[in-house]
Amino acid sequence: MLFGDLVKALAAIEATTQRTVMVKLLVSLFKKARPEEIDKIIYFILGDLRPPWEGVELGVAEKLCLRAVSKATGVSIAELESLYKKSGDVGEVARRVLSLSRRPGLLAFGQQRPLEVSEVYDTLLKVAQASGEGAQDLKVSLLSSLFARASPEEGKYIARFVVGKLRLGVADMTLIDALSEAFGVDKEALERAYHIYPDLGRLARHVAEGRRLEEVKITPGVPVLPMLAQRLSSASEILSKLGGVAICEYKYDGERAQIHIREGSVKIFSRRLEDITHAYPDVAKAVREAVSVREAILEGEIVAVDPDTGDMLPFQELMHRKRKHEVAAAAEMYPAVLHLFDVLYIDGEDLTGEPLIYRRVRLSEIVKETDKVFIAKWRLFDGADEVDNFFHEAVSLGMEGLVCKSPTSVYEMGARGWNWIKYKRDYRSEMIDTVDLVVVGAFYGRGKRAGLYGAFLAAAYDPSTDMFYTVCKVGSGFTDADLKKMYEMLQPYKTPHRHPRVVSKMEADVWFVPQVVIEVIGAEITLSPLHTCCLGAVKPGVGLAIRFPRFTGRYRLDKSPEQATTAAEMLELYKRQKKVAQLE
Ligand code: ATP
Repeated sequence: MLFGDLVKALAAIEATTQRTVMVKLLVSLFKKARPEEIDKIIYFILGDLRPPWEGVELGVAEKLCLRAVSKATGVSIAELESLYKKSGDVGEVARRVLSLSRRPGLLAFGQQRPLEVSEVYDTLLKVAQASGEGAQDLKVSLLSSLFARASPEEGKYIARFVVGKLRLGVADMTLIDALSEAFGVDKEALERAYHIYPDLGRLARHVAEGRRLEEVKITPGVPVLPMLAQRLSSASEILSKLGGVAICEYKYDGERAQIHIREGSVKIFSRRLEDITHAYPDVAKAVREAVSVREAILEGEIVAVDPDTGDMLPFQELMHRKRKHEVAAAAEMYPAVLHLFDVLYIDGEDLTGEPLIYRRVRLSEIVKETDKVFIAKWRLFDGADEVDNFFHEAVSLGMEGLVCKSPTSVYEMGARGWNWIKYKRDYRSEMIDTVDLVVVGAFYGRGKRAGLYGAFLAAAYDPSTDMFYTVCKVGSGFTDADLKKMYEMLQPYKTPHRHPRVVSKMEADVWFVPQVVIEVIGAEITLSPLHTCCLGAVKPGVGLAIRFPRFTGRYRLDKSPEQATTAAEMLELYKRQKKVAQLE
């Protein structure tokens, strides 16, 4: 097909305001295309050269594009830049100068061989592949060879495409409608194939060549469209939607990862199907060590953890991984771990049609948990109170809530159905003050903290019972010197078992006589079945806990344990804390 014909169709698509007309225009375009060029046409329309996970980028900014136009037309860069300043659209600049001027000595447009779609596509692919020294010059000369032969209208679309501003507004679903009509294939079958293999260029070619859609299979190396969750805000509603029984999983607050293992190599894809392996080399390596099969497709959440305590950190900490040159340092400073919650494929076997409960069993068979790769924590519940308790536990430990899933559901690629329901809080609150807590137990440290305590079990005091009730396990905020000091300070108070005045559901590695008081701040005070402070005061079976607790650096040696923050004060703080934001 001549590139000019594609451009005419694009102009018509851009001009229409009706989706039905858009589909019609696409149908007639697809019918005219040869099978070996239809994928290129689709990619061009989508504004990309390849599907997102291949990460093919043109690497052409406005300036470079203008250099190419200048080289093709002889119009000075300064002139082009001033035109660009006025219109703000490189496409318009290219169109104008191509219609006005031609570099002297070049054949006038019309005397040259017109551009073919495949030629334009292949040249653009070369532009994307140019790398290393001299890449910029090579990109300019490849692009100028296109502009030199392009009509003004063609030049406009090439320029817009290369700077990533084609923006035709043609969505994948519109293309699927048009392809199904153009090639007489069942739309649902096409959609199903697209969920398994979300590369519309490749699928278009498949149907254009008259091949059957049933041949499209889940393939390691090609990410599937992820299954998504609906949302409800009460455990009873969730249970009734799921038929009375639910697999409830912690909802980790990190980045979703679809992990493909193929011949010993691991690739990690984002929720938007981009290859993000480069951001998580440590996770990829850990997966190789933890998973014992040749080929697999797994799903999980990558979560940032505190390198010293292993505590989970909020999602924002993963942002350090997004800056390419900083990945190695970020992996050191902000290690990440993986919590796996699904498996879709193992060694040639497509598991997406199997019930979730079976997939979870298969997942635990192939994963040997390490200190970096875990199986997402889950339970099977049929009572709303149990779900709620698990929810509070999850939130107090830094999770966003739960994802509740139907145990019998298949993996519905690309669907946001009622088989997965997220259970998050309606609002988040903010702890308004620091508290002074008594250290009643400790946990041995790992890594840098080996030989010392890595985290402490901290409690509030209740004068009415003269007992200490736990509110958090705190490991953050301690410097190396603090850890040494804490260790030494606590030695005289070691007891062989939990002190009789301490009420705890957690088992510490070491117990102390309540004596040392430290100041702690957290993100918020939440309900938690893991802690005993104000147990049952707000809800049966749950106490109060501090989420993301941190030592402020202040030792309250001036305070006796009986002068620490009281349980009643904790309850008051819980009730008075600020609602900071309505969670979406
Ligand atoms: P959505 O993904 O539903 O469009 P969103 O991007 O706002 O919404 P969330 O509201 O955070 O995401 O909820 C879904 C996300 O939760 C998943 O995409 C996944 O990244 C994350 N998640 C964490 N733990 C789990 C789990 N156990 N099962 C499924 N998803 C989980």
